[in-house]
Amino acid sequence: MSQNATLEVLEPATEAVLQEIPHAGAADVDRAVERAAAAFPAWRAVTPSDRAAALRAISDIVREHREELAQLEARNAGKPIGDARGEMDMVAQVFGYYAGSPERLLGDTIPVAGGQAWTVREPLGVVGLIVPWNFPLTIAAWKLGPALAAGNAVVLKPAELTPLTALRFAELALEAGLPEGVLNVVAGPGSVCGARLVEHPGVAKIAFTGSTEVGRSIAAGAAQTIKRVTLELGGKSPNIVFADADLTAAAAAAPGAVFGNAGQDCCARSRILVQRPAMDAFMAELERAVTAIRVGDPLSEGTEMGPLISAGHRERVSSFVDNGAPVAFRGSAPDGPGFWFAPTVLCPVGAGGTSSRAWREEIFGPVAVVIPFDTEEEAVRLANDTIYGLSGSIWSGDGGRALRVARALDAGVLSINSNTSVRVSTPFGGFKQSGYGRELGPHALDAYTEVKSIFYAT
Ligand code: NDP
Repeated sequence: MSQNATLEVLEPATEAVLQEIPHAGAADVDRAVERAAAAFPAWRAVTPSDRAAALRAISDIVREHREELAQLEARNAGKPIGDARGEMDMVAQVFGYYAGSPERLLGDTIPVAGGQAWTVREPLGVVGLIVPWNFPLTIAAWKLGPALAAGNAVVLKPAELTPLTALRFAELALEAGLPEGVLNVVAGPGSVCGARLVEHPGVAKIAFTGSTEVGRSIAAGAAQTIKRVTLELGGKSPNIVFADADLTAAAAAAPGAVFGNAGQDCCARSRILVQRPAMDAFMAELERAVTAIRVGDPLSEGTEMGPLISAGHRERVSSFVDNGAPVAFRGSAPDGPGFWFAPTVLCPVGAGGTSSRAWREEIFGPVAVVIPFDTEEEAVRLANDTIYGLSGSIWSGDGGRALRVARALDAGVLSINSNTSVRVSTPFGGFKQSGYGRELGPHALDAYTEVKSIFYAT
């Protein structure tokens, strides 16, 4: 599509056009970087307490517009309205949490000869944020909160498929008092606008969430200008269920952990490992839970799972459930327009075993693979046998075992007897090819500041 043509934004549940918006190109990125660079000196000079107040005001305005933003997100991303409301609550919480940061960006004093040495944390300048379509405003907020708190100006590039909440958020942030130019949104294709941000010499850092493949190209591109980079990439996370676990609880929770957001979640526990003696009981409970999932109109209050994001993505997900696929059972999905795909459980893994695509690749759709294991050692080996290392769960009634396994897994975010990964106040990010750097919690600020050491001769 040519620069500044119109971009049709679709509603995945109906395939209808939801909005048409101007389509940004590389020149729009350059202008946004210029605006951000012009706004940066004044923003970094805002007193810490006033910057905190600005973030608090953003948190408040998101709460006031919760329903409007949630409806927009639910329609544009095809996610259940209840989930979208929860996501908007998290967006507000993120800004509330990082409102505490400007006044707590502490440094060290270091004993040295001949004077005083201490450290301060400086903002980086103009930061480029590139975010995906699965949790559009939430993932943007994870980056915006610490970036703005630390005094950076930002250019945010939402995914072309889901730009609407980012554009509306930028209007609300201005209304809340964020100075003009501090936050700029450029809605255009990744291969053009994202790539320009990565190569732009005026951008100091790229914070990216998306596929490992694009993450690699961003890391390579950023090397040209020695940009700082944080990458939150794909996953193929294990959900390990030992026979001594509360099987009913583990089986009831497992569908939500992989079919939530229609499986389009980098933390999806898409590899379910079950200790052999528990296999039959677990599968029976899991089937009951999967067939009960309510898949349908994202705007209906009781909906638990919506459609996939696009026709192209549905085609890719379908390729994992071809004619020969070992389908153990499936849930339901509506007919008619919309990019629907029924929740599907594969077991056994099928031809190729643990070298099959379904076991190794990130499907990013509602497809789970179940595999039995015998020993704790085997569970750890199978769980770690992946290029990814984002999240995972361990279900066991033996606390010592659960802790041993948690330490042995190569992953950044783990939960025991629970499948939750994300909290505003705890660090989130991956090992191995799931990326580097941490979002959320106190650690995120490290990724948006440079440490400066100053010596004063006495
Ligand atoms: P991408 O990695 O392609 O997209 C993520 C973001 O990067 C989007 O804003 C995209 O823009 C942008 N982008 C794309 N190409 C470039 C580039 N060359 N330079 C800079 N930015 C770029 O993910 P997809 O949307 O294609 O999804 C494909 C797969 O990625 C999924 O099936 C899933 O496996 C994984 N994924 C993982 C996510 C996670 O949360 N870890 C999130 C999304 C996807 P635009 O879309 O506008 O072109």
